[in-house]
Amino acid sequence: MEVTPVAKPPVLAIVVPCYNEEEVLPETARRLGDLMDRMVRAGKVSGESTIRFVDDGSRDRTWQLIEELAVSSPRFRGVKLSRNRGHQNALLAGVFSADGDAVVTIDADLQDDIEVITQMVDHFNGGTEIVYGVRESRTSDTAFKRGTAEGYYRLLKLMGVDLVFNHADYRLMSRRALQCLQEYSEVNMFLRGIIPLLGFRTATVFYARSERFAGESKYPLRKMLALAIDGVTSFSVAPLRFISLLGFLVCAFSLVMVGIVLYGKLVQNGTIPGWASSVLPIYFLGGVQLLSIGILGEYVAKIYLESKRRPRFFVEKTV
Ligand code: UDP
Ligand code: MG
Repeated sequence: MEVTPVAKPPVLAIVVPCYNEEEVLPETARRLGDLMDRMVRAGKVSGESTIRFVDDGSRDRTWQLIEELAVSSPRFRGVKLSRNRGHQNALLAGVFSADGDAVVTIDADLQDDIEVITQMVDHFNGGTEIVYGVRESRTSDTAFKRGTAEGYYRLLKLMGVDLVFNHADYRLMSRRALQCLQEYSEVNMFLRGIIPLLGFRTATVFYARSERFAGESKYPLRKMLALAIDGVTSFSVAPLRFISLLGFLVCAFSLVMVGIVLYGKLVQNGTIPGWASSVLPIYFLGGVQLLSIGILGEYVAKIYLESKRRPRFFVEKTV
């Protein structure tokens, strides 16, 4: 993108969710601060732009570090949630409390190349409301993480969920897009599924994803699975349809079996070899039924959780 000086540069807020990130935070702050300085000097963003760390109920020194940063420069701000509410809620707490014309969200661990924020801002200054950061390659992720993640994107697409392939939560949103996002009142937000529903002019910037700078992943398999199931049940009823289809197929198959059994009994007058053919369907159908009840249960649980309209997070302190 060419560099166009803007008449009145926009106020940018960079929102960084942090959960036990004491090891990376100082480096993240240093690099983001440096990037922000460069963008201010180049006239791309206003000098009032901020970098906003959201402490998602960390148990280490994360919040102390954020407080120190806030004292060191007005550019750094902090929001402390009352307890750990998860990545998506931490992001929401950050973006909804941020003032500014545009908000960029990025993970604290420096896996996403921060330099492309400049390109995001260029797109925004050119009138784009949402800019997606997309990983060009995932060579730095483990084969397992890459395989499951890419398989998951494909699965969701298959179920009719509109996702940006290989885009996680690294994106720029304009104030207008954020206002629209606020209208979505569901408590369990799966942001990367909702944002494409907003519409508006969007753009994509590509980057290479690197290793976590320090510390370890705050997304254990358990949280990954929870996010994955949330993504499906929030956006698609395909699993429910699949159950109906399965039921239909099993019924059709049973009818055929009835035909075969009657034929054997009445026409051939042979005895039915009993055991395997009666025990196997019992196990099989038992499995199918339990699985189906489980899937139904996921949706019922979702209704149950959403109907309570519980608040997503509480802010304990801001600096
Ligand atoms: N995170 C958070 N709350 C949580 C878990 C993670 O705010 O409960 C933050 C974390 O600090 C990081 C981002 O979400 O900034 C992504 O987490 P991580 O890099 O560990 O995930 P991965 O890249 O391994 O998927
Ligand atoms: Mg990471």
